[in-house]
Amino acid sequence: CLDPNGATVQQISVCVRKRPMSRKEENSKNLDIITVPSADSLIVHELRLKVDLTKFLEHHKFRFDYTFDEECSNALVYNHTARPLIKTMFEGGNATCFAYGQTGSGKTHTMGGEFFGKVQDCGTGIYAMAARDVFEEVSRPEYQKIGAKITCSFFEIYGTKVFDLLLPNKPMLRVLEDARQQVVVVGLTEMPVTKVEDVLRLIEHGSKERTSGQTSANAKSSRSHAVFQIALHMPDSWGPYGKCSFVDLAGNERGADTQSADRQTRIEGADINKSLLALKECIRALSRQSSHLPFRGSKLTQVLRDSFVGGKKNKTCMIAMISPSMSCVENTLNTLRYADRVKEL
Ligand code: ADP
Ligand code: MG
Repeated sequence: CLDPNGATVQQISVCVRKRPMSRKEENSKNLDIITVPSADSLIVHELRLKVDLTKFLEHHKFRFDYTFDEECSNALVYNHTARPLIKTMFEGGNATCFAYGQTGSGKTHTMGGEFFGKVQDCGTGIYAMAARDVFEEVSRPEYQKIGAKITCSFFEIYGTKVFDLLLPNKPMLRVLEDARQQVVVVGLTEMPVTKVEDVLRLIEHGSKERTSGQTSANAKSSRSHAVFQIALHMPDSWGPYGKCSFVDLAGNERGADTQSADRQTRIEGADINKSLLALKECIRALSRQSSHLPFRGSKLTQVLRDSFVGGKKNKTCMIAMISPSMSCVENTLNTLRYADRVKEL
């Protein structure tokens, strides 16, 4: 019942995407406990035990702007989430799209930062679809006439450090804030791009840098935020005219971290928790048009400060990703409750 062409988007929209059961989950007889009865609702059927050990189902019902079941393609999700944000950038605003959820829920799959060895593989996610729409718009005579230009940046926030994913061996960058609270990531690559293939190549390179040297499921990429930005520049102006940021957030599962014997793991876990809480507060501040913006609460919100100021000109979309399986129910409910509160006014 979703309009394939997407829809107009509110200033802040919050959507949920359920991924299909994986082969592994199916083989292990894991149950799919999520139903999506309509395009804006979702139910979690949680199996619980009573004191006398009899089992019962508890149904948790949620409403969001859009809910996508396992049949929905990246293109359909894009049309209802990030696509309306492209217009914002051409109107001189900052648009931001977040992929939120536990590790393995489909954030990177949705954003398009999965890389299997062919540059075309990057072409099916939100990054690439957004790039296609941006080039279509900027190729119009009114933009060509004035010499509008597009650039891309791709960086990673790991703990409190920022790394440039478009340079070899991802060098660390400094983040500075001036007296007017403008935040600058010093030396961040802003690569000029003129066609979609240029962007695909950057995504390929950045995705490889992000995951290089990783082996296990608790790989570093699941513990970092990746930020991909497309910016529109007008000649002779300082800084971009408008910008779209796509953020593949660190996995939000943090329970085990607090108990971990490894000090580094505990610190990282605390940093991730802090940044996701700060993010929620900043989006809520944007929705209230509040003059108090708690962007210093984390490195993530600090570098994305422009996304949360600027009032009505800015738009934000959060896509909360969930796994369908019973084994993930705790993380799934945490994800849905967080997404629910982002929107609450
Ligand atoms: P995350 O980035 O949240 O850790 P991934 O995007 O890496 O999760 O997804 C985990 C696995 O599930 C990957 O193998 C991915 O290809 C697969 N997957 C995720 N979402 C979907 C989907 N909507 N359809 C098909 N496969 C998916
Ligand atoms: Mg990922």
